[in-house]
Order: sequence, then structure tokens, then C-alpha cells
Amino acid sequence: MNYNKKTVMDVEVAGKKVLLRCDFNVPMAKDGSGVITDDKRIRAALPTIQYLLDQGAAVIACSHMGKPVASFDKWVQKQTEKGKDPATLTEEKWRKSLAELSLKPVAARLSELLGREVIMAADVVGEDAQAKAAALQAGQVLLLENTRFEKGETKNDPKLAKAMADMAEVYVSDAFGAVHRAHASTAGVADYLPAVSGFLIQKELDFIGGALANPKRPLVAILGGSKVSSKIGVINNLLEIADTVIIGGGMAYTFSAAKGGKIGNSLFEADWQDYANEMVAKAEAKGVKLLLPVDTVCGDKFAPDANVQTVEAGSIPDGWEGLDIGPKTVELYCAAVKDAGTVIWNGPMGVFEFAAFAKGTEAVAEALSKTDAITIIGGGDSAAAVQQLGYADKMTHISTGGGASLEFMEGKELPGVACLLDK
Ligand code: ADP
Ligand code: MG
Repeated sequence: MNYNKKTVMDVEVAGKKVLLRCDFNVPMAKDGSGVITDDKRIRAALPTIQYLLDQGAAVIACSHMGKPVASFDKWVQKQTEKGKDPATLTEEKWRKSLAELSLKPVAARLSELLGREVIMAADVVGEDAQAKAAALQAGQVLLLENTRFEKGETKNDPKLAKAMADMAEVYVSDAFGAVHRAHASTAGVADYLPAVSGFLIQKELDFIGGALANPKRPLVAILGGSKVSSKIGVINNLLEIADTVIIGGGMAYTFSAAKGGKIGNSLFEADWQDYANEMVAKAEAKGVKLLLPVDTVCGDKFAPDANVQTVEAGSIPDGWEGLDIGPKTVELYCAAVKDAGTVIWNGPMGVFEFAAFAKGTEAVAEALSKTDAITIIGGGDSAAAVQQLGYADKMTHISTGGGASLEFMEGKELPGVACLLDK
């Protein structure tokens, strides 16, 4: 995939209407009150919006929020599948479920952050949106309703894509968290408008794309998290590219079991043992250094107050489970990143949510904070771990897209990136 894409700086936007795809899928209070509990994603969009406004563009922003069901019949079907009594499923309740996923609260917050009015459209490409987009002046911001209120959004319906595109003259994509999806607002619109990236996507492409395509070596990949099965593509792709691959987290135990180790009650995926062995063989064949844990911190239950003991890898007693890498492994892994040119990290080394099992993840985070290497963190939980442990501002780049950054590291083509103009 070509990561070298045109950005907002490469197109003329003065006096133009710009359709800007943002990721405003922010967490909201569960009570339906419309309170945004974390506005990080809205803040992250500000540089691109501000730039466009400063250039004299009119900004038509759009985003999805949550997973609304855009048709009543489909909603009834889904609720019934969940065990709800169909007799209680009224159209009014369906409309309420949609209203809770309105972007209105986002418009209010965005307006506060920008210090200027944000006009809210009542729909995505309906009469209200069309009229407000047509009347929009340079320096003004319009926010369309939740793109997933339109059935055609997730189906990448060309009619919807064209209707969105018809309101604008340029398309700017800045929703990195959604680029792995080929939806009407993330990819389809690019068929009808010149399409470029905003600053957020540009940064992701520069750092993650740069590390994958042309890394400063040695490239060390640290892979952890819960399951082997969710990281197959990442392990496989990074074994192609990296000089050293380090395995930690829950998936290490499937590797250990595949070698004949005793893993007690540790996370284990029997069906992936052959795959684990294949990866070990692939590393050997390619001359990639593959590091596996040499010791393990175990608990007698999956809980913050578990009893704890440290044992050699592959000799976890019955009734115990591996919940973190041990101190010798920490030493080994930290030494491996010390002289790295680039480090890509996806997946915590242990159950960092419990203090007793956060030491491995913390030690690796600290080691990364001290290297001169370019340090890139991908994956939702990994980003959260680095944040929670207080190392966020010491990393070169923390990806803003969970699923998108994983697919990026898997080497997959991202439809929301592929559709942008090449530089
Ligand atoms: P990311 O979202 O960064 O890709 P994952 O979703 O793959 O990361 O994994 C994160 C989760 O893995 C964390 O919630 C963590 O508690 C869990 N985890 C890490 N090590 C273990 C382990 N030894 N046993 C069980 N769960 C683990
Ligand atoms: Mg995760």
C-alpha cells in the first residue's frame, strides 16, 4: 500500500466547501443524558478544522457515532434476537435509540472548543443538511447528523456517497479510527471528490507507515495482549519486516504450550498451537530474533487480589495462571529495545489493569521512554495502558485508531487511505 498521500496542505481549499470526515465517535454517559465523558477525539480534530477555517474554507464535518440500526424492521429483528418481546418494540422506542446516538452533543462541545458557532444539521443528506450546506459560508462549520443514520453508510452505497459529495468540492479524511472500513463517508465519497488526508491521518501514515515501509533499524516489534487468534495477521506481517519480535501477554502461553510447556490455567488457544510453532519456524528461517518469556508471574485466580508467585516459563503449577511476564523476561525484553532504531508495540505484557500484574507492561513502557528509538504504540488497550501508566508523552506516536492501527500493522490495505490521492 502506498502511504504517501496528499494532505490538506496539497490542495486549494480557500472559498471551497470541504467535506471533512472526523472520528467523533466519543464515549457518552450511559444514561442517555448526552453527556460526553471523554472529548479527546473532538480535540484531536481541531488542528485540521482550524487549518481549513484559517484557509477560508467552509467546513461540512461528518462522523458516525455508535451502531444505530437505520431501519425500524431491522431494529425489531435485532432486538428480538436479543430476547426482547416484539410486542414491546414500538417505533417510538426505535427513534429514541437513534436520538441517543445523535451528534448534537458533539456540535455543542465542538462549538465550545472552536469558540465559534457549529451549525447542526437534522440529517445526513436530507433537506435540512442540503439547505444548510448550500447556505454555508467560508469560515463557517456545519456538522451533519450521524452518518450511520443512513442505511447506505455501512454498505458503501454510491448513492449516499454521491449525495454527500455533492454538498462539497473537496473531501478531507481525518477519521483514522474508521479508515479500515469501506463505508460511504470513509471511502465511497472519494469517487466523486478530490480526496486528501487531514493532519491526524497524515501523522498516522508518517509514523506507522514509515515504520513499516522504511524503518530505522533495528526494528523491534513487541507483541502482547490477550489472544494469539486476534494477532495472527500482526505477528505474521511483523515477522516479515522486523529484526526482532518479542512475544508477551496472554498469547505467550499458547506458544509455551505448543513447545510442551505446562501452563496451568493460563489463557490458551489449543487450535493455534500449530500456528505458534509455524511462527517460531518462520522466524528462524528468516533470521528474525524471536523472544519468548523465560519466566512468568502467576496468580491463583484472575483477580487483583490473587496470590502471586513467579515461576519459570513452561512450569506453571496446576491451579495457577500466567498473568504477567516475570523479572528475567523484563530484563531480556528491555535489553532488546535498548539499541533499537524503531519499536512498534502492540499488546500489553500482562493484565496491566491489576496492579499486581502491571509490572511487565510498565517496565517495557519505561524502557521505551528511555530509548532513542522511534516508539510507536498501536492498539486500543496498549494506548490505554501507556496512558494509564503515565508514559504517553514519552512515546513518539500513539495511534488514535484501535482496530485501524491493528489492520495497518497487519499490512492490510486500508480502504479509507487507499482512496486518497497519491502524492
Ligand atoms: P490491543 O487492544 O492493544 O490490541 P489486546 O486487546 O490484544 O490489546 O489485549 C489487551 C488485553 O490483554 C488487556 O486487557 C490485558 O488484560 C490482556 N492480557 C494481557 N496479558 C494477559 C494474560 N497473561 N492473561 C490474560 N489476559 C491478558
Ligand atoms: Mg483490545
